Amino acid sequence: MTRKGFFGHWGGAYIPEVLHQTFRQLQEEYDKARQDPSFWQEYTALMANYSCRPTPLTYAANLSRHFGGAQIYIKREDLNHTGAHKANNVMGQGLLVQRMGKKRVIAETGAGQHGMATATMAAKFGFACTIYMGEVDVRRQRPNVFWMEKMGATVVPVKDGSRTLKDAINEAFRDWVTNLDDTHYVFGTACGPAPFPEMVSWFQSIIGREAARQIVEQHGRLPARVYACVGGGSNAMGVFQGFLNDDVELVGVEAGGHGLDSGLHAARLCGRDASPGVAQGYKTMFLQNDDGQMLETHSVAAGLDYVGVSPILSDLADKKRVRFESATDSEVIAALDLTMRLEGIIPALESSHAFVQAFKEASDLPNNAAIIINMSGRGDKDIFTIAHAFDDPSWKEFIIARADEYRK
Ligand SMILES: *Cc1c(COP(=O)(O)O)cnc(C)c1O
Repeated sequence: MTRKGFFGHWGGAYIPEVLHQTFRQLQEEYDKARQDPSFWQEYTALMANYSCRPTPLTYAANLSRHFGGAQIYIKREDLNHTGAHKANNVMGQGLLVQRMGKKRVIAETGAGQHGMATATMAAKFGFACTIYMGEVDVRRQRPNVFWMEKMGATVVPVKDGSRTLKDAINEAFRDWVTNLDDTHYVFGTACGPAPFPEMVSWFQSIIGREAARQIVEQHGRLPARVYACVGGGSNAMGVFQGFLNDDVELVGVEAGGHGLDSGLHAARLCGRDASPGVAQGYKTMFLQNDDGQMLETHSVAAGLDYVGVSPILSDLADKKRVRFESATDSEVIAALDLTMRLEGIIPALESSHAFVQAFKEASDLPNNAAIIINMSGRGDKDIFTIAHAFDDPSWKEFIIARADEYRK
């Protein structure tokens, strides 16, 4: 039997002693919620009313015809409130915070999507909210910072280290140890010390539960394969959980950046650059050097460039239950282009990684097979990056004209 909070060799809770009591309380509240059927009812009712759940499973007729193999279905997590699957996690944790009687939430954010989702949840539940964000990211992601502040959150730029996501996580932990009584740390993905990996995955399992039911209703049987992009691993864990015990192949797609041999990627489970380590409170495969210093990662998708990965996925990789692949930045832009043109759907750059791998494999499968692509979020947020990638001249003109207006 594996120890509680571990998944094979991975996971655990490597936390300072001052946090032990707080983690015990969180674990107890989470255990209670899991055993209480009315909690899941309250959660799904909240998600139905506030976040458009159940999200549709859209049959992509034109893409299916284009590739001429499997029938392609898209799970529409983009239709959640705030535009991505992150809502599932933050709203679930919001209910737990309410049960614990705490009044303040903190969170880390990289690209700002998890910060946005947490600020939204805090506004709805009436919690005070502080978001830690690397100074470099604050500068890069101004639109998200703007909305977080407008929803009443305080955004704190972190000036340590590389001034990006991992530094924001460290700073959020520092805040937590000094404000244990009234504060909950809303971790953004299925990583970090136990119980976060399992708890976040549990909230995200709403995706897979719906998708498993929907595909049988719409296609008549289970899919051959399910594809999801992998940053920290929460949307992938969410959809995979609907199919873990079935004869369904599960495919996780990591950020291939400029290619796996370029050093400019974020492939932890499918590349050769990651190694086992303990950091940020848990054990998993990290992109690190021989001294345990974290490496710089790169992806066109800001949500996929984290140095660690869910310990649950590290375990599923060991067990060969999930196959891991990668997609390069340029493949991602091509898949996004095709999906917009053929289906009128704009996937987030993160989600487009899953589309790349599904497109590579769809024609290998027979017409009566189905595949599901988990579309973790919408691409509207990526307009700056996408317009730049398409080198769109009128977009440039637009930006310059807006800047000129401010200079007047
Ligand atoms: C944050 C984010 C991701 C990556 O996070 P996971 O925990 O790996 O799911 C993927 N897609 C979108 C749209 C995101 O916002």
